[in-house]
Parts: sequence; C-alpha cells; structure tokens
Amino acid sequence: MDLITHFLVPYIILAAIGSKNKLAGAFGGISLDFDTISVAFIGLLSPQLFIFTHRGITHSFIFALVTSTIFLYILSRKQVNEFISNIIKRDISVEFTKTTIGIAYFGALTHLFLDFLTTKGIPLLYPFSITKYAAEIYPSVDIIITIVAVVVLLVLYLRVNQNYKKAAMAAFMIILVSFGCIMSYEKSNALNSEKITLTGSYNQISAYPTQDMFTWNIVESNAQNSSYRVSEYNTWQNQESNIRTYKNPLIENGSYNSAQNAIKIANTLPVVEKFKWNSYYALVDAKYNSNKWDITYYDILNSWTENKVTVTVFENRS
Ligand SMILES: [Zn+2]
Repeated sequence: MDLITHFLVPYIILAAIGSKNKLAGAFGGISLDFDTISVAFIGLLSPQLFIFTHRGITHSFIFALVTSTIFLYILSRKQVNEFISNIIKRDISVEFTKTTIGIAYFGALTHLFLDFLTTKGIPLLYPFSITKYAAEIYPSVDIIITIVAVVVLLVLYLRVNQNYKKAAMAAFMIILVSFGCIMSYEKSNALNSEKITLTGSYNQISAYPTQDMFTWNIVESNAQNSSYRVSEYNTWQNQESNIRTYKNPLIENGSYNSAQNAIKIANTLPVVEKFKWNSYYALVDAKYNSNKWDITYYDILNSWTENKVTVTVFENRS
C-alpha cells in the first residue's frame, strides 16, 4: 500500500474511537516504509543481507515495534517536530510516552495487515522465519486508492468544516474496504473459472492481483514443480489470454544429473537466495557450456526487482 493510506488508516481508526493520539498512530503507520531510506542501503552492501530492503526486516512483528518506536522518538524531538511543523504550517507535535509508543505500534500493525493483503507479501515472523506472507488481494500499490488517499489527506490538511473531514475519512475507509471485497470476489471468480480448465498435468492453482481488479495473473503448476502454466484471466469478459508454459528446470546440453548437482550448488549462493526471496516463482534454466553450467533464474510473474539472475557453476569432475 502507499504511504498516505498507511498514514490514514490508523489515523481514521483512532479518530473514530476519539483518541487524542491520532498522529502517533499515523506516524507509526508510515514509519515502516521509511525502510527505503533507513535500512535498504545495508542490503546493497552484500546479497547475504537481502532482508535489509523495502518490505524486509521492518515489516515483521518484532522489528515493526523497534521501527515505530524509533520513528516516534525522532518525530517527538522538539527540533525535528518544530522544523516539520514550520514547513507544513500545521502543528504535528507528538509525545513520547508508553501510551504513544503503544499507539504508534498499533499504527505499525495496521501497516503490516495492509501490506499482508497486497501481493508479494512481507516476512511477518522474521527473525524466526524469512517466509513471506501474502493474501494476494490488492496490488502492492493501487493507483485509484492512492489518488483517493491524496484527496482525503488534502481535506484533512485544509481548514474546512469538521463535518467534511469526517465525511472524507468515512468515504476513504468505505472505498478501501469495498475495493478489497470486490478484489476478493473477483479473485475467487478467476480461480473458479480457471479450475475448470485444470488438466491432469497441473493440479495447483494460484491467482495474483494486477492494477486492474478484473484481471488476474493465474499460475498453474504440478506437484513436482516441474511444469508451469501462466496466464491472465479477465473476470469481466471471462477470457483467458497471454498463456505461457514453462518447464523447470530447463536443461540444455549436459546430463540431467550434472545439471541437478550444479543447480543444488547454485541454490546456496546468496545472489540466488536473494533473487528467489524477491520472486514469485523463480524457475531455472541450466545451460552446459565447456565444463561449466550457466544457471539462470527467472521469475515467471513480473517482479518489481530484477527479472533474472545468472550464476556460473563449474562442473565437479571428481
Ligand atoms: Zn510497507
């Protein structure tokens, strides 16, 4: 979700229950996405540190608390707060107390929940597990929701009648929730329509959101994860398009066993672990070429990061 939605959701919930610490919650809500400027550079130092990225370490239950607390601490400093208040010409003073730390964490939890609902997911249980959890309902940033959020934030900023502000906040929550309901409904529509076409070689099916709530990326695979079928399904026209099939691994030249050994080695390399972690489905293409394997990992669904990574493994002849 976009930064403004992450600000608005805790702010609106806290406003609805009459809390006077709305801003602390909103700051907690936005704090996690400052990972793009606070921790992402650490991840660039080495591929082993791939958890230090946007939607990485800060998007876990434990480190969300650390992040929202630090963020609240910084924003509650008088110099910082007055500096920003002067720029935006509004009083954004917050306190740093046990209560506001708790409320900021509440904001961070709404952030985790919203990002969990989007595609690709977040490592909620880090450091116990690096598995990402995703409900795959909203796209990672929904353009329409973002535009509505900007308008609502503007209404909250302007010095207009309180009733307009309340109406704008209510309208935003209604739009956000109803979009989620429509997307869940369309997703199950897409899955049900595609299930009928599921043939013997494919027995698993998943759907992934796109910017268009009526278009879903469908991935079918078999239990061995050796063949994949990717398509787009439009629930408005009940039409499937852009069908691609993949074999995994795809082995060119060389023997199957030698390729399997090389892939096993490649799988342990940090650049590969990083690529897999950032991918929906990382499939393998192994090419044998004079004593070495060029092993390419590629994501069959569009990924926001690099789409391919190639590593070389020398054949072990011992
Ligand atoms: Zn986020």
